[in-house]
Amino acid sequence: MNSRFKALDLLSNRKKFNTPPLSSNVSEMFGCNVFSDDTMKQFLAPKSYKQFKAIIDAGVNLDRDLADHVAESMKKWALSKGVTHYAHWFQPLTGRTAEKHDSFFTLNGDGEAIEEFTGNELVQQEPDGSSFPGGGLRTTFEARGYTAWDPTSPAFILDVNNQKTLCIPTIFVTYGGQSLDYKLPLLKSQAFLERSAIDVCQLFDENITKISVTLGWEQEYFLLDEALFNARPDLVMTGRTLLGRLAPKGQQLDDHYFGTIPERVYAYMTDLEQECYKLGIPLRTRHNEVAPCQYEFAPIYEDVNIAVDHNQLLMDIMERVAIRHKLRVLFHEKPYAGVNGSGKHNNWSVATNTGKNLLSPGKEPGKNLQFLAFFVNTIQAVYKYADILRASVTSASNDHRLGANEAPPAIISVFIGEALTKVLDEIEKGVDVTADGVKKALNLLSKVPNLELDNTDRNRTSPFAFTGNKFEIRMAGSTVNCAAPMTIMNMIVGKQLREFYQDVQILMASNMPKDQAILTVLKNYIQESKNIRFEGDGYSEEWKDEAARRGLGNYGDTPRALEAYSNKEIKDLFVESGILSEEELHAHYDVRLEDYALKLQIESRTMAEMCMNQILPVAVDYQTRLLQNITALKAVGLGEDAYTAQLALVKDISSYINTIKDCAYQMKAERVKAGALDAREKAFAYCDKVKPIMEELRNAADDLEQLTDDEVWPLVKYRELLFLR
Ligand code: ADP
Ligand code: MG
Repeated sequence: MNSRFKALDLLSNRKKFNTPPLSSNVSEMFGCNVFSDDTMKQFLAPKSYKQFKAIIDAGVNLDRDLADHVAESMKKWALSKGVTHYAHWFQPLTGRTAEKHDSFFTLNGDGEAIEEFTGNELVQQEPDGSSFPGGGLRTTFEARGYTAWDPTSPAFILDVNNQKTLCIPTIFVTYGGQSLDYKLPLLKSQAFLERSAIDVCQLFDENITKISVTLGWEQEYFLLDEALFNARPDLVMTGRTLLGRLAPKGQQLDDHYFGTIPERVYAYMTDLEQECYKLGIPLRTRHNEVAPCQYEFAPIYEDVNIAVDHNQLLMDIMERVAIRHKLRVLFHEKPYAGVNGSGKHNNWSVATNTGKNLLSPGKEPGKNLQFLAFFVNTIQAVYKYADILRASVTSASNDHRLGANEAPPAIISVFIGEALTKVLDEIEKGVDVTADGVKKALNLLSKVPNLELDNTDRNRTSPFAFTGNKFEIRMAGSTVNCAAPMTIMNMIVGKQLREFYQDVQILMASNMPKDQAILTVLKNYIQESKNIRFEGDGYSEEWKDEAARRGLGNYGDTPRALEAYSNKEIKDLFVESGILSEEELHAHYDVRLEDYALKLQIESRTMAEMCMNQILPVAVDYQTRLLQNITALKAVGLGEDAYTAQLALVKDISSYINTIKDCAYQMKAERVKAGALDAREKAFAYCDKVKPIMEELRNAADDLEQLTDDEVWPLVKYRELLFLR
């Protein structure tokens, strides 16, 4: 039996997976493995607790004494839960999380065994010998990286599959303090946005003294049986199918979306949800997605730093829990050609200490100028800096998704819905900016709240959409670390709000009343940014032409999208905002290029191996069988018309075999050439030289799949991957 049939056999003999019973009420379970406020109160002396809260609120550093107290209380809490090890938990530029475990256990001066966790160990660690991508920021002689505690994200106990660890969320930096991760730039971008947003808020409401960015992500993913996964070298090596002919049925019947969740998947989801609740991840929504075997989880939105950590943690737990159910999770943006890919919509908004969502049109029309300011400035920011936003979500895997089935195009545009379009259009054209004009604008806006629901009219084709009270970034792919697009959103909107504030100040200095000044500036922005707004079908060919006429960027692949990092204006913005220095920016750029080239290198090697080692032998054998048949037919004296079809097949197979062999060899030659280039050129070489050969190779192999005897085909087929469970 070949590996495909062994896998199918295993699958059909699987025992039923039962839904685990809910171990307690969700509200009881929620956050029980988090070093939460309540836990802290319980384990920390009241004075230290107060000090600690004050320090977090003020965003300043805490002293060693207090760190010792906090560490001690964390240790006590962890030991009470049977935890023996702790780990600094961080988010290197690989895109996933990393942890280095240490034991509380140590020997004191007298050689006695004790459990210890000091403030020093809590605050800083050196993940020695670490080999995380650093884009040249770390030369070998100073290869050390440091992790430093982020006290704004609570520590938690990871307790799955018999592993128990106290995890401390940390940032990851070089010896010189340069960023090697996603968290530090995110935290800096939040502070940057906060500074300018508060200035702008003060124009409207002096009670607003603090803001926080809110993020609600939606995680799409595919599931498949472990046996099928293991039988496909491409899934194991690259997370996607590099080969495979489309099944006659895909998603065209729309019979999966929001359909009944299959029993086995339901058991998995329920199990996973319980793990998430314990960790304080507020999962709320679960449903089927468009493609067969595709699903989604979405939580209640949270502060962006916590939401990012929770998404990273979720992805980790999803994989661990899947193992218990003999399932595998595919986070790749396009595991299967020809069906829907997976995204990770990032819903972004800004909330105030007064409990307001700055992007909610709200119920108080009189105050809507504030909404309008944040709304229009966000659009203006995206208009000006679309390229870096696009670059933030680009990757080898997302390249397959953007612009393909049911995914937004690579062109960035903003969708705001009919009601708000009307408001902006009227302000642009109609409102003369006098006191009267202000009144008229507010009047227009006052009609919006009633429309809020219809207004979330789902234009699924837009990469960036206003959905009622938040902007939804839809071009983000399922593997992305949300911190990447969130950092950029905070940076560009922060910059834009600062400019807005200054523009308003200038007009006010020339004695224009405040509201009139605000509306005058907004009117200009509405005019300027008009080209980024698009309400039509983003999937259509006409939009591509129209976008080109409008001068909007359309970067279809990662090396081209990443060029935004070399743009002078963008570099200046990173530096000015303090989010990344020029050196750090370059390093991050390099890491992204390297990642792209490496992913394609692995894919191309895996593909060649599968074709040469698995497909060619089968094709040759099958061809031999056909030839034997022809010989036998000839031997009994039959003429050529008795074996025309066989002969044609033999010839076809020969031609595919040639293509496969040629492609595999050419690809190798291109890889060798690419290997000698610098990071940028290498990425371009993989994109422009290697990738097209991979496509040609796939076509030949997929055609062979159709010709060859099903009984001997070695790779689990699309119909099996997508429809058997
Ligand atoms: P859809 O699939 O239609 O986009 P969902 O209900 O699946 O909608 O997802 C909506 C997401 O938006 C959720 O993750 C939710 O937490 C998030 N969200 C709602 N309000 C806000 C807000 N003010 N800020 C950030 N995210 C929000
Ligand atoms: Mg969505």
